[in-house]
Amino acid sequence: MKKISDALFLECLQALEAGEVLSADQWRVLLDGQDLKRQAMAADRACRIRDQIYGKNVFIRGLIEFTNYCKNDCYYCGIRRSGGKVCRYRLDKETILACCQAGYRLGFRTFVLQGGEDPYFTDDRMVSIITGIKSRFQDCALTLSIGERDRESYRRFRRAGADRYLLRHETADDAHYRKLHPPELSLSHRMACLWELKELGFQTGAGFMVGSPGQTTDTLIKDMMFLGRLRPEMVGIGPFIPHHDTPFKDEPGGSVDRTLYLLSLVRLLLPRVLLPATTALGTSDPMGREKGILSGANVVMPNLSPENVREKYLLYDNKIHTGKEAAECLDELKRSMAGIGYEVAVDRGDFQR
Ligand code: SAH
Repeated sequence: MKKISDALFLECLQALEAGEVLSADQWRVLLDGQDLKRQAMAADRACRIRDQIYGKNVFIRGLIEFTNYCKNDCYYCGIRRSGGKVCRYRLDKETILACCQAGYRLGFRTFVLQGGEDPYFTDDRMVSIITGIKSRFQDCALTLSIGERDRESYRRFRRAGADRYLLRHETADDAHYRKLHPPELSLSHRMACLWELKELGFQTGAGFMVGSPGQTTDTLIKDMMFLGRLRPEMVGIGPFIPHHDTPFKDEPGGSVDRTLYLLSLVRLLLPRVLLPATTALGTSDPMGREKGILSGANVVMPNLSPENVREKYLLYDNKIHTGKEAAECLDELKRSMAGIGYEVAVDRGDFQR
């Protein structure tokens, strides 16, 4: 590979920062040109831009993992249908509301309901949960992360009061998507869902794992160009971490530095984006969340699930769920954010248009 000169690298970084639409070749320069010095340069610029828009605020979301049943069989995921050793659980409405209540007292003003694609949670059941949360916690935002559904279902969730929806696209390359998923799942359907969610007025989140098996510079170029077209309000990016009972158990995990660098590039691409320093990043590196914030992220999502189910929602091995990860240890998180010059904000933390 030809060495990428500093001048060329800088030209591409500046074009990105100036809001130009980069060509695939320009993305290639940025992606292949990563080294520690350039990573620091991108992080600097990403933080500057984020601080101009959101100040030194880090927004928190209370994550409620309400079911680990899943009808899908994604090859990377620890709660896939074929995961025979998973101890399955689902939370009922009252338990979910109790989690929100506990979170509210702690200062959370956004709740994220995440789960596998669990047919038990029909549209009617979801609407009842959404209505329940939104009527009791009127000053809170509600985010759903429950996978692919019909347009009509999304419409009902939105009408019931759900504000945001996280649906990582996982990869914007068709062949790569097929390497990560069984044949019944398709990139075209996933993307159609994302466009529908946007149209329905959800603050919408896309995203992908870093270092997932088969990921290359070419697939990442497509990811970045897709994000540039979709312009989601949120982007979830974390390192791939193998789970011991999946087809990818022997694959290497994604790199922390690569993840941090991509966070910076996403911040430069979408200056106003709400960008979490993810649990996977915190799992791969004990300082992962802090490093994420210092690379341009501005959201953390502590775990609000009941303690007895946390060890059952294992998308990957060694997932952290205590200490700074846990909602009840918010003080620890506040201290660690203060330590790097940031402040945990107690508000909904909406996308700033
Ligand atoms: N069922 C929902 C929620 C999925 S879990 C949906 O389909 O959107 C949220 C995210 O965790 C996934 O989108 C995936 O990107 C990530 N994830 C799953 N397995 C992982 C692994 N082994 N390592 C890192 N991240 C993983």
